[in-house]
Amino acid sequence: MRSFAYHQPNAIPEAVSLLAEQPESRPLAGGMTLIPTLKQRLAAPAALVDLAGLPDIKGCSNGNAVVTIGAMTTHAEVASSPLVKSQIPALAALASVIGDPAVRDRGTIGGSVANNDPAADYPAGVLGLGATIVTSAREIAAENFFFGLFETALKPNEIITAIRFPVPLSAGYAKFKAPASRYAVVGVFVAKTATGVRVAVTGAGSGVFRVPQMERALAEAFDPTAIAAIKIDAEGLTSDIHADAGYRAHLVTVMAKRAVATALGAA
Ligand SMILES: Cc1cc2nc3c(=O)[nH]c(=O)nc-3n(C[C@H](O)[C@H](O)[C@H](O)COP(=O)(O)OP(=O)(O)OC[C@H]3O[C@@H](n4cnc5c(N)ncnc54)[C@H](O)[C@@H]3O)c2cc1C
Repeated sequence: MRSFAYHQPNAIPEAVSLLAEQPESRPLAGGMTLIPTLKQRLAAPAALVDLAGLPDIKGCSNGNAVVTIGAMTTHAEVASSPLVKSQIPALAALASVIGDPAVRDRGTIGGSVANNDPAADYPAGVLGLGATIVTSAREIAAENFFFGLFETALKPNEIITAIRFPVPLSAGYAKFKAPASRYAVVGVFVAKTATGVRVAVTGAGSGVFRVPQMERALAEAFDPTAIAAIKIDAEGLTSDIHADAGYRAHLVTVMAKRAVATALGAA
């Protein structure tokens, strides 16, 4: 690991200024991804700006049928939050299957969404629920946030402060996990809302994506059988040591059916 400056700001404007001062600086949240990256010398930032001391960017609240989760809220806190469990149980369930207890105790929702690992769980929940990413500078709809393979709409000095999730009528998440890391080989989040159905897939490709064909079928009949015959095109999906593209395509339908069954309370 190379040496770097370490800052602990107490206010968001101060954190943004510190990031702007040194172009090669990075926000630090739970460090679950960033610290190993530094240790392996895959990144060598001049400075880390620790978000841990910032006020008002941790915890869960609700109002107007929206659940707001602060960026520094850990996966364990989301998984155990009575508010999230009652309003969007599928999101609490998603958080509860991220990594292992150590990862869930340190890793944060803001860090996960900013990192946009193609096999991460939260991007499926964020896109599947049509959430809004709130940053130090603006609000970004999930549709316009994820650019694929660790790329997002975030600008270099922009900090995620919270994520706003509209409360769905019902939702479910199912993932086929890699046995060692528990990252998603394929994960599917399905949400039934007053305006339609959303299906978001993680793990299968270079970034999270929606499946309009399944969304249309589920809007007509919200039941696993409605999508049982839908086959996803394997072209462009990921092939790696865990699964080839054809198997991943198959898993999308299997996981989507399980997610719908979960949303119906039948799984
Ligand atoms: C062994 C292991 C298993 C894992 N398994 C899973 C899994 O099954 N599913 C899954 O989804 N994830 C998994 N993860 C990743 C985990 O969820 C991490 O929490 C996540 O990758 C990053 O969150 P973090 O808070 O640790 O962020 P950090 O590592 O601190 O930061 C990650 C990146 O995001 C940036 N960043 C952090 N916070 C913000 C912010 N608020 N605004 C802007 N940029 C920010 C940082 O600069 C950095 O570039 C696993 C990790 C490990 C080590």
